[in-house]
Amino acid sequence: MPYERRQQAKRRWRLSTKLLIASSVATVIGFSAVCTSVMLDMRRGEEELARQTLENLASGIDADISRNIELFDLSLRAVAGAMVMPEIKQVSKEVRHLILFDHAATAKHFGAIQVFDSTGQLVVDASTLDPLPENRSDEEYFSIHRDQPYTGLYISKPMLHRSAYAIVLSRRISGEDGSFLGVVAGSIRFSYFHELFGRLTLAPGDAITVLRRDRTIIMRTPFDLDVIGTNLAEARPNWSADNLKDNSSYAGAGPIDPTPRLYVRRSGNGPLFTVVGKPLDGVFSLWRKEAIRIGAIMAALVLFVLGTTLFLAREIGRRAEAEEKLEELATTDALTGLRNRRKFDAEIDVEWRRAGRHATPLALLIIDADHFKAFNDTYGHQAGDQVLVGIAICISDSVRRAGDCTARLGGEEFAVLLPGQTAVEAFDVAEMIRRKVEQWCDEETITTVSIGVASLTPLAGQNWTDLVEAADRALYAAKANGRNQSVVASLEALSLVA
Ligand code: GH3
Ligand code: MG
Ligand code: MG
Repeated sequence: MPYERRQQAKRRWRLSTKLLIASSVATVIGFSAVCTSVMLDMRRGEEELARQTLENLASGIDADISRNIELFDLSLRAVAGAMVMPEIKQVSKEVRHLILFDHAATAKHFGAIQVFDSTGQLVVDASTLDPLPENRSDEEYFSIHRDQPYTGLYISKPMLHRSAYAIVLSRRISGEDGSFLGVVAGSIRFSYFHELFGRLTLAPGDAITVLRRDRTIIMRTPFDLDVIGTNLAEARPNWSADNLKDNSSYAGAGPIDPTPRLYVRRSGNGPLFTVVGKPLDGVFSLWRKEAIRIGAIMAALVLFVLGTTLFLAREIGRRAEAEEKLEELATTDALTGLRNRRKFDAEIDVEWRRAGRHATPLALLIIDADHFKAFNDTYGHQAGDQVLVGIAICISDSVRRAGDCTARLGGEEFAVLLPGQTAVEAFDVAEMIRRKVEQWCDEETITTVSIGVASLTPLAGQNWTDLVEAADRALYAAKANGRNQSVVASLEALSLVA
């Protein structure tokens, strides 16, 4: 039984430590999940904010560029329209100049508008009344109108135009019958873009790219002449335009440099569109700092909670062990290691009830050393103690069933509880004990025991003290009969008790 109890106690504390560890781990996991979710929300928020800012920036740039191109285009259209008026050929150069370029855009970044005839020969130049002879029939901004009548407004690749980097905008001059009469062209210098981007407050690594609809790079900041004029559709076939559709965003490496950025594309109806990018490092820098701070605090908390849990679990274990030891001490006889009187009383009470419930017999042996006073007197108290330990060993050796209970009742008196055993079976055990003691002692110091045996199946109204009394009477009988023998409580004695 003590073994069972010990196991039970162990199971109890194991259960409670398991519960403690499980609840701590669940708490830690729960907190971590909430924290992670909040951090991810924050990250999404940062990204959304950056996207909005980039969208606004891109919209502003796109609107400015579109408006300027539109204005310039209006001037080109006006010139192209006026050039086909028959009257224009009849007026003087000065008047023609006034008519053609009255409304022409003359902003500082716009190059002078020029008109070329159908052979590409310069005929009119807004900047001078007497232009030097010049033929542009080889230029794409000329030939495209000659070869493709419905090009509309054409925007050239970035090029050196009149000793400045610029894009050339051109329109076809068509006769009433649709015949090709020439081209009107003007330029927007790069200085326009430089000034436009210069007005913006950009963080290091921010990128702005202005592209033609065919994905030719018109302008980019950070400025790199090698990149400008590149057609991304041809030069970076791996990076599809589908990655970044109109008015959408894309996070990752772009087609121009490997820096991962959040890119936003904006475009109105103009011939150009704008892509603005911000390095992801920059987008998430604040968030990252916060995530590291909160992550570190969380890690410290998790370690603290787990550490405390392990410490508590160990303490619970130690306490359970200590309680177990205390219980053992309180119920064990110090000299023999058998159960003590208190424990025996508790056990017989439990077994008596159990036997009553199951209507099974409960047997009891009361064992008493013979002439022990005399032994003590002859050999001394310490030798007597040795004999008591020996008797205890003989008893334990003879009683091996798990449910059996051996105890020292006090002095030189022992008891054995044998649940489920009849008087005959119990008598066999008693005889085994008696013989063992007899054989164990040496010839000089003969020690024997007398044993009273009783077995009762509890009836209503009976008490376990009845069983003890019956065994006691049997023990008296054994003593009276000459000792060193086992006596079973007689039926009369039992019925007397009953
Ligand atoms: P009987 O055969 O009639 O039982 O004779 P007895 O001398 O054994 O009986 P009694 O009850 O008169 O004496 C019991 C003796 O057991 C008294 C005491 O000296 C001895 N005794 C009791 N407790 C202890 C103990 O813890 N150690 C030792 N060494 N002796 C004890
Ligand atoms: Mg005695
Ligand atoms: Mg005795």
